[in-house]
Amino acid sequence: MRRIAVVEGDGIGKEVIPVAQEALELLHPEYYFFPVDVGYGRWEKTGCPCADRDIAELKTADAVLFGAVTTPPMKDYQSVILRIRKALDLYANLRPVRGPGFDFTIVRENTEGLYSGIEETSEERATTLRVVTRHGTERIVRKAIQITRQRKGTLTIGHKANVLRSDVFFRSICIAEALSAGIRYKERFIDALALDILVHPKDYDVVVTTNIFGDILSDVASFLVGGLGLVPSANIGENHALFEPVHGSAPDIAGKDIANPVAALRCAGMLCSHFGDPCGEKEIEDAIQATLSCGVKTRDLGGTAGTKAFGNAVISRLGTGRPH
Ligand code: NAD
Repeated sequence: MRRIAVVEGDGIGKEVIPVAQEALELLHPEYYFFPVDVGYGRWEKTGCPCADRDIAELKTADAVLFGAVTTPPMKDYQSVILRIRKALDLYANLRPVRGPGFDFTIVRENTEGLYSGIEETSEERATTLRVVTRHGTERIVRKAIQITRQRKGTLTIGHKANVLRSDVFFRSICIAEALSAGIRYKERFIDALALDILVHPKDYDVVVTTNIFGDILSDVASFLVGGLGLVPSANIGENHALFEPVHGSAPDIAGKDIANPVAALRCAGMLCSHFGDPCGEKEIEDAIQATLSCGVKTRDLGGTAGTKAFGNAVISRLGTGRPH
C-alpha cells in the first residue's frame, strides 16, 4: 500500500489539492492518504509553520501531494517548502512543459544555489550566499542526463557563466558530465534562454539549471501553455518524492472557487507515473484535454467554470474500465 501525505497548505492549495486527491482516490483506491498541516495558516494559529514532527511525518510517506504555502516577506519567517525540500533532500525539481509542437522539461537544482538559506542582514547591507557544490551539480546534471537519454534528446545547460563564478563552476561540471555520458548538449546564457524558450520552444528537450534560474524560467515557460495554473512539478530525491504545482498560494484568487486545478491534477498524474502507472497519468491528461475541448474552462483560460465544477468534469471522465 502506498502512503501519500497530503499538504493542502495555504490559499488555493486548499481548493486544487482536494481535486487532485479525488482523482487519485478514484484511480488508486488502494492508496492511503493522510493530511499534514503546515504553512502560513498553521503559523497564524500556532506560531509555528512547520515543526520537526511534521517533517518526520512527511518522511514516513511514500510520496507527498503538496498544494502551496504562503511565505510572507518577514525577516525571521523560514519558507516551509524550502525547508521540506532540504529536509527530504529533494534535489531535483522536474517541471514538464507540454503544448502543441513542443515538449520540454526544466530540471532545476532544488537544494542549494541562491536558496541555500545562508543570509545576513545589517542596517546597511543584506547578503545571500549562492552556494554551488560539486556534489549538488553532479547529481542534478546526472538526473538531467538520465531524462535526456530516455527522451533521446538534447540537454541545454542554462547558466550565467559570463558573470558568475559559481556558474563557471556549474557549467564546467555539467559539460564534463555531458561529454562523459556521450549525450548531445548545448549551452545558453539564462537571460537569452528565457526569451528563446518562448520564441522557439520546440528547440528544447531538457534544460538543466540552478535553483533560482529554474524557478524563474519555469514561471516564464508557463506562458507557453496558458499560465501558472497548468504546470506541475515533481521534487525528487533518493528516498522521497513530492509533487506540487509550479504556482503558489495565489492569495489574490484564494477562496473564490476560480483557481485552475489542472496543475494539481497533472501532479496527481506525475505521482501515478512515479509509482509505475504511466497509464494513470495518461488517463488524467486525456480527461483534462477532453474537458477543455468541450469548452469547460476556468477563468484564467477564458472560461466560466469554477474549480470544483472543472474538477468534477475531469473526474467524471476518469476510472471507467480500469481493473483495480
Ligand atoms: P502565485 O503563483 O501564487 O500567483 C501568481 C499569479 O498567478 C496570481 O495572479 C495568481 O492568481 C495566478 N495563479 C496562480 N495559480 C493559479 C491557478 N491555479 N489558477 C489561476 N490563476 C493562478 O505567485 P505569487 O503571487 O508570486 O505568490 C503568492 C504566494 O505563494 C507567496 O506567498 C509566495 O511565497 C507563495 N509561493 C509558494 C510556492 C510554493 O508553495 N511552492 C511557490 C510560489 C509562490
